[in-house]
Amino acid sequence: MAKIAINIATGSLQQAEMIVGIDLGTTNSLVAIVHPETKQPVCLKEYNANSIVPSIIYFDENDNVIVGEEAHSHLETNPSNTIFSAKRLMGKSYNDIKNNASFFSYKVIDDNTESLVKVQVNNKFYSPIDLSSFILKELKKRAEHILKTPVTKAVITVPAYFNDAQRQATRDAGKLAGLDVLRIVNEPTAASLAYGLGINTDGEKTIAVYDLGGGTFDISVLRITNGIFEVLSTNGDTYLGGDDFDKQIVDYWISKNNISQALLSNKSLTQSLRLKAEEAKKHLSFNEFFSTDLNGTELSITKEIFENLLSSLVEKTINSCKQAVADASVELSEIDTIVMVGGSTRIPFIKNAVSSYFGKAVNDSINPDEVVALGAAIQADILAGNNKDFLLLDITPLSLGLETMGGLMDVLVPRNSKIPTKVGRQYTTQKDGQSSMRISVFQGERDLVKDNRKLAEFNLTGIPGMPAGLPKVDVSFLINADGILTVSAKELRSGVEQSIEVKPQYGLTDGEVERMLLESITHAKDDIATRALVEARTEGEQILSVTEKFLAKNSAIISKDEMLETAQAMQNLQLALTMTDKNLIQTKIEELNEISRPFAERAMDAAVSGALSGKSIL
Ligand code: AMP
Repeated sequence: MAKIAINIATGSLQQAEMIVGIDLGTTNSLVAIVHPETKQPVCLKEYNANSIVPSIIYFDENDNVIVGEEAHSHLETNPSNTIFSAKRLMGKSYNDIKNNASFFSYKVIDDNTESLVKVQVNNKFYSPIDLSSFILKELKKRAEHILKTPVTKAVITVPAYFNDAQRQATRDAGKLAGLDVLRIVNEPTAASLAYGLGINTDGEKTIAVYDLGGGTFDISVLRITNGIFEVLSTNGDTYLGGDDFDKQIVDYWISKNNISQALLSNKSLTQSLRLKAEEAKKHLSFNEFFSTDLNGTELSITKEIFENLLSSLVEKTINSCKQAVADASVELSEIDTIVMVGGSTRIPFIKNAVSSYFGKAVNDSINPDEVVALGAAIQADILAGNNKDFLLLDITPLSLGLETMGGLMDVLVPRNSKIPTKVGRQYTTQKDGQSSMRISVFQGERDLVKDNRKLAEFNLTGIPGMPAGLPKVDVSFLINADGILTVSAKELRSGVEQSIEVKPQYGLTDGEVERMLLESITHAKDDIATRALVEARTEGEQILSVTEKFLAKNSAIISKDEMLETAQAMQNLQLALTMTDKNLIQTKIEELNEISRPFAERAMDAAVSGALSGKSIL
């Protein structure tokens, strides 16, 4: 039943099912919608309030949850009960974050280094999914209060480098918060959409999205081809942002004013210094000089000094840009547009540095704190069917496939495939009477699965006893619009089937997708050689096993000489299989084939030919 609601604030009728766009950020989060009347994206905020909700969760002594500005005020006073940067923990094991463990002032559990992290507050344990769900719940509550209508559907943005596990974790957090997450969208894609890039455009555009927030820096190079967004490369530093600029100013003041270490052990003084530094930083975005008083001490700084303090950090971001452009295999001149995201891009020195590197003016007309949420709202509007001309598609960053004989990667969905997508392939068994088949799903570009990343594994059981090669197992990969993969396997003769939704155990580290792509290039030659050897060995083993069965079954029609000759050729092949010379193996396969061909032709039956054809898994 369709519901109609009235917005009490404006008196206008509202669609009951408004789909919101959510920027679930590391430090701040926002909700936006496309306004039903103006058709323009806007961030939601209470009258006279800020649209930004700090992504901070405070647990009081009774485990009550408080999110946002109020939680922020507990950061200094009760650090072990106040959780910030939960997004950094999404889909991570303790191993992934152990180098940055000191960053977290709350308790991150490390009892089992391979499993996903949990956070302990009071006597309770929370997963990053739980923590993100508290933030989303608060955003939902605020949005419902502003819109005066239930909010149950959302589009949520994630960094372009988030892997499947982190995307799935974000989606699960939405579910926990009572939100149906219709789509997970890359943050740079959303920012581009907010600038109207990729909407109703024909042809190709290359875009760089420079995102410098409070604590993280990302650069992404995107290509939009007829409305399809592809992430060509990402780079950045997950521990670099505006907070570091504040720290530079604090350190400058400490040395300039000879503030003693004894004074600095006073927590509230260091906190005041930090806040004054942030104030100075913001002021210097529009003025030449800042001066203030802290407990009778004058703290001042000029824009020029601030820019000097900043220069090496900014240079670091430009080096990341260089790397991203190189990884994307594009020329600097091919980049059509540069989009600025994140509060720190308000600093003129940074805008100038980025624009001078790319040799173009940057796009900075949209509030850099809001641009991602606004883009998410545009995507939500498209999904709501309000913009029917436009379908947003995304692309898989790495290939997906199955392990086949010899540990080879059989790619079903090549990297850069458009999603959603569905592909299938048929496999068969390798052994007679084999009743189960292991389906191991991998992600990556290398030819051997051991060099790729295992996403999931399951056993298709209950395959009725049949000779090798007879069962027909259809394996299909379905990737939905969020990039979540469902793998199904069905044995066609018996109808047994099984499927799995891929929720990898723990995530890739941030730069790992890029590393995997790079390695596939550097190892390409070795990989081709290894694949050829593994394929030759697999073929050799299959032929040996088929020949052996054949001899046992057909001894009546084979002469003694033929039998001896075949045994010799089999032995030669067996020996070749222990060596690493692919050509030798192929020669021995040929020799065995030559010898067995005449009598094989006499008795070759359908079952044997079946066993010789078709790929088998394990
Ligand atoms: P975000 O994570 O995108 O919300 O960015 C927040 C960061 O932007 C914080 O470090 C802020 O101090 C910084 N920021 C916000 N406004 C300004 C400004 N006018 N000049 C410099 N930095 C700013």
